[in-house]
Amino acid sequence: MERKYIVAGNWKMNKTFDEGIQLASAVNSAMPRGVAVAVLGTPYIHLKTVGDLISENSSLFLSAQNCHQEEKGAYTGEISAAMLASVGAQYVIIGHSERRAYFSESNELLAKKVDIAIKHQLQPIFCCGEGLEIRKKGEHIPHVCRQLEASLFHLPAEDMKKVTIAYEPIWAIGTGLTASPEEAEEMHKAIRGLIADNYGENISGQITILYGGSCKPSNADALFAKPNVDGGLIGGASLNAPDFVALIDALNKAKSGA
Ligand code: PEP
Repeated sequence: MERKYIVAGNWKMNKTFDEGIQLASAVNSAMPRGVAVAVLGTPYIHLKTVGDLISENSSLFLSAQNCHQEEKGAYTGEISAAMLASVGAQYVIIGHSERRAYFSESNELLAKKVDIAIKHQLQPIFCCGEGLEIRKKGEHIPHVCRQLEASLFHLPAEDMKKVTIAYEPIWAIGTGLTASPEEAEEMHKAIRGLIADNYGENISGQITILYGGSCKPSNADALFAKPNVDGGLIGGASLNAPDFVALIDALNKAKSGA
């Protein structure tokens, strides 16, 4: 299996229904051809309609931003992995730092979400990353390694291959601060090395590792040029089609000879 190059948008809690459909339509009609694929991480209300809209486009995929860890039941207001799969979602973002911070999602809980997502044929986009204090102390690599060990490394190799990892330093998310290409590459290389230690080089070479944190058209070329940066998880710049499409162009350009 070849490593995939992905630009994944995380719309978060933005866009009314009509605004979201407009955005998805604009990305769909401008979707560049190339090695990169794109994922639209929409709010729940958009999933079915956006999924139908992009269904003919073999380079565009649909993602939810979260799922519940249980199969079904009395969890008012929650959405299950089976429900997401039933409306055509192919991916689900799991463990975004906002969910870890505002909804107290622990590494252990996230391991359960990863399991139920895979059970229902959803590919997890698993987020990891350190806060500023941890980075300042120089403990960012062990911190991220612990997140991966606790939430992913119970998976058998066949399931691990279905996971996309998104390294998102918390201090760079929505702040305008970006990890330098060297800082991103250092972490991505460490993540790939850790996966190789646990699953072997063949599997670690297949895993897509995205960078997230104020990635935008002006800094994407340098980030995507790094060999272990396989694309981006994009918040702010996924909310307008020209910027999002420019990021897909940048990834195509960076990886066309890879
Ligand atoms: C994110 O929230 O996943 C993210 C990367 O946001 P932004 O691009 O706005 O920093």
